[in-house]
Amino acid sequence: MDLKSSLLAAPGPQQRRAIAKTITLLESTRADHRAQADALLTELLPHTGQSFRLGISGVPGVGKSTFIEALGLDLIARGHRVAVLAIDPSSSISGGSILGDKTRMEQLSVQPQAYIRPSPSSGTLGGVAAKTREAMLVCEAAGFDVVIVETVGVGQSETAVAGMTDMFILLQLPNAGDDLQAIKKGVMELADLVVINKADLDRDAATRAQAQITSALRILGQHGHPGHAQHDATLWHAQVLQLSALKAEGIDKFWQAVTRFRNLQEASGRLAARRRQQALAWMWERIESGLKQAFRQHPEIRARLPEMTKQVEQGTLAASTAARQLLQAMGAGFPPA
Ligand code: GDP
Repeated sequence: MDLKSSLLAAPGPQQRRAIAKTITLLESTRADHRAQADALLTELLPHTGQSFRLGISGVPGVGKSTFIEALGLDLIARGHRVAVLAIDPSSSISGGSILGDKTRMEQLSVQPQAYIRPSPSSGTLGGVAAKTREAMLVCEAAGFDVVIVETVGVGQSETAVAGMTDMFILLQLPNAGDDLQAIKKGVMELADLVVINKADLDRDAATRAQAQITSALRILGQHGHPGHAQHDATLWHAQVLQLSALKAEGIDKFWQAVTRFRNLQEASGRLAARRRQQALAWMWERIESGLKQAFRQHPEIRARLPEMTKQVEQGTLAASTAARQLLQAMGAGFPPA
């Protein structure tokens, strides 16, 4: 059977191998692999989009793997098929790994109804994110109806994950004051739901954190949706829940909140709108990144860039003039009018 048929076939070892093979093809840097992967993606596309896409982030140690494992096992028990993908920003910066090294989610990973894939291990963050987005489509085509994309609370990876998922969830600790960090970095604004994990350690602290973050979200929400938004019953307001991933307490409430969010978003058309907007933003992000790469690799640019950089640094050439001349060196049509 060819890759596509194996992917679309019934779940089982053969399908798993096909998923792994396809994702490896997507991650390959060889041009012929890329062309093959693109052709396959196009064929798979009509079979995608049926899952609910959850983004999950939080600082190292907050309990992401523990939570995803507890959630995944719970969802599988309810008849779902769960794919877990990761975007590890450290892999694109240092070649190291925050998410991937330790053996994670041991119970979930052996479930036939789960598929866990670590972060692509090289490339720019944009490239890693693009590959993860494609891997998500592959998992959807294979019939996984919940896709979880995990990342760590460092760098720009959270924006990337929020930009490819239907719902973005931020995990926080009860008392670390990391809510302030999240607000400063602008991550809190991305969150559709904030989960205070490890509530078992200190209920009072968790309840205080819940109140604090709830009011912070209210303020951020007012900035985001001025006017009558507060009275619109079809509009979701970001919520804060506490739970204990370790004891698997609160998972039910969590899934209820996710389901409420999903129903509201579907009924109001916001889910479809979010996906349309994400797909276009994604296309443009990739175009811009491709153009930049082509620019840097262009022989004429490579020849002239060092000297012009020097002139701009020394103040003998205006930055904008240098940019225009370099763009002209790209050939016809540059710089764009
Ligand atoms: P990650 O780095 O965000 O993936 O965090 P892990 O899931 O690896 O968890 C880090 C540590 O916190 C582990 O020792 C977990 O057992 C522990 N942990 C995770 N969730 C909870 C929780 O709800 N309560 C308590 N007490 N510990 C937890």
